[in-house]
Amino acid sequence: MVIFSGIQPTGRKHLGNYIGAITQYVAGQERGDPAIYCVVDLHALTVDYEPAALREGLYDLTALLIASGLDPERCILFRQSDVEEHTELAWMLGCITPLGELNRMHQFRDKSVQQRQLVSAGLLFYPVLQAADVLAYRAHEVPVGEDQREHLELMRDIAERFNARYGDVLVVPEQRIPEVGARVRDLQEPDRKMSTTGTTEQGTVLVLDEPDVIRRKFKRAVTDSGTDIVMADDKPGVSNLIEIYSVIRGVSPADVEREFADGRYGDFKSAVGEAVVEWLAPVRERYLQLRPDESHLEEILAGGAEKAREIAGATMVDVRAAMGVGRPSSVGSGA
Ligand code: ATP
Ligand code: MG
Repeated sequence: MVIFSGIQPTGRKHLGNYIGAITQYVAGQERGDPAIYCVVDLHALTVDYEPAALREGLYDLTALLIASGLDPERCILFRQSDVEEHTELAWMLGCITPLGELNRMHQFRDKSVQQRQLVSAGLLFYPVLQAADVLAYRAHEVPVGEDQREHLELMRDIAERFNARYGDVLVVPEQRIPEVGARVRDLQEPDRKMSTTGTTEQGTVLVLDEPDVIRRKFKRAVTDSGTDIVMADDKPGVSNLIEIYSVIRGVSPADVEREFADGRYGDFKSAVGEAVVEWLAPVRERYLQLRPDESHLEEILAGGAEKAREIAGATMVDVRAAMGVGRPSSVGSGA
């Protein structure tokens, strides 16, 4: 079982990223053979960015992932731009991807509205590069949050189209979306997902926020009318808090409802905040130890890239042969 996932290089990772993606990455190390995790710096170029901040963000995230429990001995952790096979495969896959499908992607539509100046072709092409990331490793499983469902479906279509046209070369991956916590909501605007871009600062709990900041954000979380602490479609705020608490405690949302059956919103919000603080404190502590040693982080990424290149390189030999691109393998080196 090959597991693959990618994540954008910023240290401003929030509780949604942590619950929807990072904890799944850590668990994937038990099952993945191998589990491959990629910091996608090339994806970050698709919207406005600062080159120096991108580098900082890359180290921030690498340190955060290790602090969260990724172990370079048990997974392959690397930087996307270190493995050139991703961009080569992206071009090839782009040539069998219908433009109309890219145009319809919700993330493209949302992010192009947010862009004040240039809406780049790269932003449109983003899901093709994402497909290449995964397909280059013939991954079987992709752990992601709910918001990536559409991109995963496109990726599966691309793999199927490739195999139908060129023969059985690529693996059609399955998405792995957690049952609880796949869509953590903004604490101030619980109708929207918690997000790095485009939601409220007070409603976005960062993994690296100081404990008091986390407590305050939960105390001010928007709840719904009524007093019951129950999961319900018309109670997105309370339901969100129940889900967060249930993930941390490792119990079902129904268990949380029972635990707080006689509770009040105020006390419940404090309890959730306190649980989050306790949960994230060791991550923050390890992060602060790891982050300063950038050359150590570079070493880990270099080791990961070497292993990644081996796998992606083998896939590309088959892809080139199937597509009739490059020097045929039957032509020797002249010896
Ligand atoms: P942006 O809003 O700029 O797209 P993001 O907050 O979605 O940023 P990403 O780096 O794109 O962050 O996402 C990393 C992973 O976290 C993805 O697998 C994504 O599905 C997951 N994820 C993002 N937001 C949430 C959320 N609110 N709840 C659960 N999972 C999430
Ligand atoms: Mg996203």
